[in-house]
Amino acid sequence: MSLAHTNLAPRAFDSELAAQYADLYTRVSDRITPDEWAVHLPYIDAIRSLKSLRRAVVLAHNYQSPEIFHGIADVCGDSLALAQRAADSSADVIVLCGVHFMAETAKILSPDKTVLIPDSDAGCSLAESITAADVRLLRQRYPGAPVVTYVNTSAEVKAESDVCCTSANAVHVVESMDADTVIFLPDKYLGKYVATQTRKRLILWEGSCEVHERFTGAEIRSLREPGLSVLAHPECPPDVLEEADFVGSTAAMTGAIRDGKMDRVLLITECSMADNLAIEFPSVSFTRPCNLCPHMQRITLPKVYRALRDMAPVVEVDAEVARRARRAVQRMLDIGRREAA
Ligand code: SF4
Repeated sequence: MSLAHTNLAPRAFDSELAAQYADLYTRVSDRITPDEWAVHLPYIDAIRSLKSLRRAVVLAHNYQSPEIFHGIADVCGDSLALAQRAADSSADVIVLCGVHFMAETAKILSPDKTVLIPDSDAGCSLAESITAADVRLLRQRYPGAPVVTYVNTSAEVKAESDVCCTSANAVHVVESMDADTVIFLPDKYLGKYVATQTRKRLILWEGSCEVHERFTGAEIRSLREPGLSVLAHPECPPDVLEEADFVGSTAAMTGAIRDGKMDRVLLITECSMADNLAIEFPSVSFTRPCNLCPHMQRITLPKVYRALRDMAPVVEVDAEVARRARRAVQRMLDIGRREAA
């Protein structure tokens, strides 16, 4: 699949290229300036051509910047949606615009596909907070307690787990466990939130998201105004969630805005998401204290272009680790499908 003899270098920005993508720019122009567009568009155009050539699909997390989210993604969503679409995709190649554990999850579910991540240093403070050895020690300490693990973890940690969950389905997954005590890993704030929604006893870990833990209840109170709806992600600390009108995953927050006829929204999550939603819901006014995820921001259009051009970096997961991790992820997807049925 060498591209040595193809002519897919980004074209120079000119009026012809601008006219070709005029509709797309109209859609994103509130968030991307004309000067930025002149830089982004040649890459958007080249990446779209490379996607066809490689039979590739681009999956983008809700925290990706607007030029990726609206410019090149075939599938956008939260971790759960990306995991499901990775499993269902018939493409040969998956480009994961998100962080490393998401690309690993795609590989776990699609072992025969080539999975690319544009920057293999795109990590996650939650995924780095726990190891497989930690999970084995917890099992020894709480024998018989099932291990429910947030998808924001390495493949090795997933392989030691009974079932995975996302912030969208964490309560349902915990409730589905046939045990009174559940080990819930690794996000202590998501765990504390889930504990308020279930009668089960949760054993928690000291992990946290470096983006969401920076929000405070005092910050939300200082931004409160009449008519403002406050939506917060459950990775935030409890004093933030107490101030929120709605607590949910990125997908749940999007659904609440779509269904809720909200005029003004304070979005307490990674702030690229507010940019993307402002494009999707132009009649809604968004306020957001801007906490960006430095790992998500590592993914850029030039890196996506190079990944598809060079077919690298490729994400690999040890076959035995992948087999055991797949069982935990698949069990989560099965719980979700049973509920949807
Ligand atoms: S926003 Fe938080 S949980 Fe998500 S990738 Fe960044 S550090 Fe990890």
